[in-house]
Amino acid sequence: MQIFSCPFCGPRPETEFHFGGEAGNDRPHGGASVPAQDWAAYLHLRHNPKGAAREIWMHTTCLEVFVMERDTLSMRAEPGQALGGHA
Ligand SMILES: [Zn+2]
Repeated sequence: MQIFSCPFCGPRPETEFHFGGEAGNDRPHGGASVPAQDWAAYLHLRHNPKGAAREIWMHTTCLEVFVMERDTLSMRAEPGQALGGHA
């Protein structure tokens, strides 16, 4: 089992975390005026890097949402950086 580090609680088993997606995939601004291809890219296209990745995770026991840097090859995960909530 892998250990992830919550910014609020510290190291915990990976089963306590929920993946929230790729960090930096910001929702397009402009509502209905946003071109369909921009919405499609936002909803469906991912970088899926081989190696270093920045991801959004939530610790389901304290509900802290944070960005974690994780290496998809080595599975090494750096301590997370809080996005809000308890910080
Ligand atoms: Zn936590």
